Amino acid sequence: MDLGIRGKTALVCAASKGLGKGCALALAREGVNLVITARGREALEATAEEIRRIFPSGAGAKVTAVAGDITTAEGRAAALKACPGPDILVNNAGGPPPGDFRSWTREEWVKALEANMLTPIELIKATVDGMIARKFGRIVNITSGAVKMPIPELGLSNGARTGLTGFVAGISRQTVQHNVTINNLLPGPFDTDRLRANFAFNAAKLGKTPEELARIRAEANPAKRFGTIEEFGAACAFLCSAHAGFITGQNLLMDGGHYPGTF
Ligand code: NAP
Repeated sequence: MDLGIRGKTALVCAASKGLGKGCALALAREGVNLVITARGREALEATAEEIRRIFPSGAGAKVTAVAGDITTAEGRAAALKACPGPDILVNNAGGPPPGDFRSWTREEWVKALEANMLTPIELIKATVDGMIARKFGRIVNITSGAVKMPIPELGLSNGARTGLTGFVAGISRQTVQHNVTINNLLPGPFDTDRLRANFAFNAAKLGKTPEELARIRAEANPAKRFGTIEEFGAACAFLCSAHAGFITGQNLLMDGGHYPGTF
């Protein structure tokens, strides 16, 4: 299926690894020009080079790497300087650390809100009017399955991401008449560094090794495995496609069926 976005430009945040990289790869496959960001320059450049190698520019995709912390004003300014008028925006950043809410300070809460709520809102604010003027825009926010099913030790994430979800629910209904959609992708367990770090955090408390815990968690999922970044990227690319203009304000849970509800 041709997704109809060849030649469009995407800003994909936090994309040197993991889910963001999955989205960048899937968009590059469709011939979308990319600006990708991450803090670590070396891994980011390596990912940009990998994407260029897999999808040579003759096939459509041009890849620009912009190193910086997207949760800071400077990081966002650098990303927007390289990509002032994206047709596609994929909002992503690292998730907050796990812990016990009794120990979190106000500063830690503000940091989580900055990263997982206010940064995507700032980037939407900076790009959405250009999309509206051009009559095409696709915004995908990478949030978390925790928005639907909170994870006890990830209270900072549960709170910040649910705030973003409420904001998106409101504005996504105002932009869709201009062919600008805003949706959220809710990852369940995907096999990335982030997931492995969570196992490392919880394994010691449960008297297991991280590898044992990973096996137990994979077995407990209805799919009997974790998701792959390629599967995640494919869903993102479809939401960014020309065919998805009637889908807005949605929260697509990708968790192998882990959430047990009928809806
Ligand atoms: P990951 O494998 O650790 O990759 C994170 C990527 O984001 C890296 O490229 C990292 O590069 C970049 N990054 C992190 N903080 C950044 C920042 N402040 N500015 C710019 N780039 C930044 O993580 P992931 O599993 O893909 O997770 C992505 C998001 O999905 C996170 O918010 C995570 O909490 C959420 N999530 C993941 C899962 C899962 O199962 N994997 C489940 C639910 C939710 P640098 O470190 O070099 O900046």
